[in-house]
Parts: sequence; C-alpha cells; structure tokens
Amino acid sequence: MKRIEDITENPAQTKKIGETLARKILKKGLLESAVLVFLEGTLGAGKTTFLQGFAKGLGIKEKILSPTFIILKRFNINDSEFKNFYHIDCYRIQRPEEILELGFKNMVSNPQNIVAIEWPERIRNLLPKNGILVKFKAIDKNKRSLLLLR
Ligand code: ADP
Ligand code: MG
Repeated sequence: MKRIEDITENPAQTKKIGETLARKILKKGLLESAVLVFLEGTLGAGKTTFLQGFAKGLGIKEKILSPTFIILKRFNINDSEFKNFYHIDCYRIQRPEEILELGFKNMVSNPQNIVAIEWPERIRNLLPKNGILVKFKAIDKNKRSLLLLR
C-alpha cells in the first residue's frame, strides 16, 4: 500500500493535490470496476475543496458544491474512457439503504465511473473494499493534513 502525507496551507494547495490525483487516475485508465475515492474527515476539513480540484483534473468545468439537500450528483467526463464522475456526500444519510435506492451498486460496479464519497463511514457496510482513501485533518484555520492511502 502506498501512503502519502501532505500538509496544505490554503484551499488552493488542497485543490492541487486533488487535481493531481485525478490526472493519475485518468492516466492509469479503466480498472475492473469503478475507481473509488473515500474522503474521511470532520466538517470543514477540506473534503469538498479537494474534490473541486479533483473534478478540475477530470476536465469537469462545472463547480463542485457541498450538496446541502442532495446526496449525489453526476458529472460527465469528456475525452476519456471514463464517462461519469459521481460526487456522493453521505453526511445527511439517515439509513445506509438510502444510497442503494439511488443505484449505488451499479454506480460502483461500472468501470467507466469514478465515484468520490464524502463521509463513507456512514455507509461502511455497503462500501467495496478497494478504493483510494484520503483522510483529512484540520490542524488550524488554514492548515490541513491530508493522508492518501492507496
Ligand atoms: P468538508 O467538505 O470537509 O466539510 P469543505 O471543503 O467544504 O470541507 O470546507 C473547507 C473549508 O476550509 C473551506 O471554507 C475552505 O476555504 C477552508 N480552508 C482553509 N484552509 C484550507 C486548506 N488548507 N485546505 C482546504 N480547505 C481549507
Ligand atoms: Mg463536504
């Protein structure tokens, strides 16, 4: 397992790490099932900020937001063998089954999908084993520690 630790001093640096990871995923190409990225860390630790850079690295122009009322949003990936980027935020999930009702099983089995999940611990029992884990910690107002495990 590869383990990379980073400290960022501002949101732009966190986005940059997300962007770099996305480019690596695109370069590596399709796997047997969807590429999964699990983002763990408290509220405000930088998970969504990271995904803004990540989406940019996938060539997505739309803005990635903290989904306030929605759990899931899909974006098109253009000019790649990957076709869809799913941003899932499990923070508001009451029952893990809610995510199944949104088609989670198909989402994570299709190799053409890249699926990023904030608060994956809320659906722990439903998660496939293989994925990239990014653990976020807020150190102070602008400092974040990012631990990438893959
Ligand atoms: P989460 O999705 O983990 O709840 P967000 O990415 O939505 O967190 O929010 C992170 C907040 O922290 C944003 O307001 C962002 O501007 C701020 N911030 C300050 N420093 C950093 C940093 N180094 N990396 C990421 N976000 C930072
Ligand atoms: Mg978030």
